[in-house]
Amino acid sequence: MKLRDLGEFGLIDRISRIVLSTDPDILVSIGDDTACVKVGDRNWLLTVDTQVENVHFIKSKINPVDLGWKLSTSNVSDVVSCGGKPRFALVSVSLPKNLEVEFVEGVYRGIKEAQEYYGFKTIGGNITSSNQIMVDMTLIGESQTFIPRSSAKEGQYVYLTGFTGLSRVGLEMILSGKGVSEEEVYFIKRHYRPLARLDKLNTILRFAKSSIDISDGLVSDLYHISEQSGVKIVLEKDRVPVDDKLRLYCLKNRTDPYDYILYGGEDYQIVFTSDELIEEEDIYLIGYVERGEGVYIKEEGRVSGLSKRGFNHLV
Ligand code: MG
Ligand code: MG
Ligand code: MG
Repeated sequence: MKLRDLGEFGLIDRISRIVLSTDPDILVSIGDDTACVKVGDRNWLLTVDTQVENVHFIKSKINPVDLGWKLSTSNVSDVVSCGGKPRFALVSVSLPKNLEVEFVEGVYRGIKEAQEYYGFKTIGGNITSSNQIMVDMTLIGESQTFIPRSSAKEGQYVYLTGFTGLSRVGLEMILSGKGVSEEEVYFIKRHYRPLARLDKLNTILRFAKSSIDISDGLVSDLYHISEQSGVKIVLEKDRVPVDDKLRLYCLKNRTDPYDYILYGGEDYQIVFTSDELIEEEDIYLIGYVERGEGVYIKEEGRVSGLSKRGFNHLV
């Protein structure tokens, strides 16, 4: 069988069966946004994320500082979604021998900006040669608790920390060679300089029962909560926040903004479920949890199923 027949998530299942093992100090293992281990009286959250040339970025189109920033943000976002504060990072890079030194230094400048912004420290890593640029970060976070994907329950509300779909528009603009007008810069910045929602960590810790960060797309990531919790999730279409500039962009291009909002990836907002009604800036109530399975959308009283498409490496 080839990897493309299995897909990213099928492969995770199979390799889990090979390496998965238990230990009283492992609180959460493979299958969530981070793993969680207990050391002394602290919980440490561990995650790793990679950016690969021609998969995640095109060298001629990205500023290396942005690459370092985005690598850091994708990791910080996973730690935040599990209720942790980012602390320590290891950075491993694979680099072609003819790559300019300035490019590599730029990546590390982006990591430095991110570590100052998010408050973690880089403490080591590894360097190897390769045909393609690959930058990989292992991030360790700290938390008193752990908020998994698997604890959503019937009767809970679903919350989102902000607009989605903007990064996807930015990517389209980058690929079509745009990036001049104010509007284009707005979207491209959302793609290259996304912000992990560390500013909402206290809210997540206080209210969230289950949580995930949006890397693959709102619907696709909600499917992870739905499947791992064994519940049905219903989005209320008129409650899902729509960015004004995205609405305008779609109007101009005669495209459906919800294609971006529901299925665009890499916005790094957090979607979580809670028992409580929350009134707070940048915390949008977008739906609810019911008994059943799958992810649905409700519009003018009609409920319809949402397909699972979203980003899957290997397919
Ligand atoms: Mg994640
Ligand atoms: Mg990942
Ligand atoms: Mg991730």
